[in-house]
Amino acid sequence: MSAQERSLRRLAACLERGEVSALELAQDCLARIAASDLNAFIDVQPELTLAQAREADARRARGEAGTLLGVPLAHKDIFVTRGWRSTAGSRMLEHYVSPFDATVVERLAAAGAVCLGKTNCDEFAMGGSNEHSWFGPTRNPWDRAAIPGGSSGGSAAAVAAGLAPAATGTDTGGSIRQPAAMCGVTGLKPTYGRVSRHGMIAFASSLDQGGVIAASAEDCALVLGAMAGFDARDSTSVERPGEDFTREIGRPVAGLRIGVPREFLGDGLAADVRAAVEAALAELRALGATLVDISLPQTELAIPAYYVIAPAEASSNLARFDGVRYGHRAAHYADLREMYDRSRGEGFGAEVKRRVLVGTYVLSAGYYDAYYLQAQKLRRLIADDFRRAFESVDLVAGPVAPTVAWDIGSIVDDPVSNYLADVYTLPASLAGLPGMSVPAGFGRGGRPVGLQLIGRWFEEARLVGVAHAFQQATDWHLQRPA
Ligand code: GLN
Repeated sequence: MSAQERSLRRLAACLERGEVSALELAQDCLARIAASDLNAFIDVQPELTLAQAREADARRARGEAGTLLGVPLAHKDIFVTRGWRSTAGSRMLEHYVSPFDATVVERLAAAGAVCLGKTNCDEFAMGGSNEHSWFGPTRNPWDRAAIPGGSSGGSAAAVAAGLAPAATGTDTGGSIRQPAAMCGVTGLKPTYGRVSRHGMIAFASSLDQGGVIAASAEDCALVLGAMAGFDARDSTSVERPGEDFTREIGRPVAGLRIGVPREFLGDGLAADVRAAVEAALAELRALGATLVDISLPQTELAIPAYYVIAPAEASSNLARFDGVRYGHRAAHYADLREMYDRSRGEGFGAEVKRRVLVGTYVLSAGYYDAYYLQAQKLRRLIADDFRRAFESVDLVAGPVAPTVAWDIGSIVDDPVSNYLADVYTLPASLAGLPGMSVPAGFGRGGRPVGLQLIGRWFEEARLVGVAHAFQQATDWHLQRPA
């Protein structure tokens, strides 16, 4: 099936007309997953999936309707699920099965989506390459030697390879946008607070946001519509009336002012990515948008600010994994202290440990003011940069990542290189803004490039409208790996 044939609108229409059943769709996806060598999934439970599919068919037979009713969909293994394991890509939670569903999982199931299983990710979503998973790296379907990006790399690879029409993801500092870019699919990270974090295994709570990876902007909007909304169980969930995120589809791009931050097109940007992004920007101009040269002066400081704040919050969030309440417990220990040490020492991987150490350090009494407090001030300045920019432009556009996907193993031992690669996604994360990644061509080695679109707070619908217009004018999002 081509990407177009697998679009959610088309699948929904086929289900509606009875040309295909939810059961057949689920069976087809499960067969593809079983045959795949990408290591995109951590847990697959065919009986559970097929039972959900039968239930969706039964709901349709009873006269129920709905775009997602019977549509198969995968969940990043950061969302807890009843039935499937919930591991966060960590040995710590290798065998953990949650007694409840995350709000996102619950809402999508209520809309009739059928869960295909849990997708691979960097451990506790810490990383941008999927190499930090206890379950081994996911491979990029465009080139198996390449990372799929991360941390939602399993979700992006699954959608790109046609294993699932759509998948959930989470984005703390770029983990939806960057793997979507590197796998040539579309990713949508909503405004912070839009999607409930209840049941999303926490990494950095003030940044974590659930979203979606799919084949097109329209598909992302359809899934987001079912995921989003106020949830009393998440204290940072925002109370807003429900909305249709597809409502700006068809609205002309002409007249829109799109800001291009010069800091996003500086020296660190690889030539192949620059060429693809500049061509994409020219396409938006051809559609009638006005490109405006803008400055987000604090862009570079997003890296140090994020890599203080995110580890600080992570060190606190991960304190709950102590070998007592749930998760991995060491087999041998002499006393309580050693039980903690060994359980955490064995349960967490190197990148997680690095962040817990950094986070504990920056929060310690002697260094709190010097690092954590300074980082919070930078965070405010970064948000102010955007606030100022949005006085004169409707959205911001630029690259998602400085390079195309790199080779698995090539920089895994160089944390700083990994962190620097987040430079274009971190600013919107720190500001809590919605962002999208839209396929925009190919670079070195035929590896995909993404165009990033960043909108004002709660203007996801505008982003979807512009991304859709771009996807009507281009066919990058329809191309699939061999
Ligand atoms: N790559 C970033 C990090 O390692 C972002 C991760 C994310 O968004 N979950 O922290």
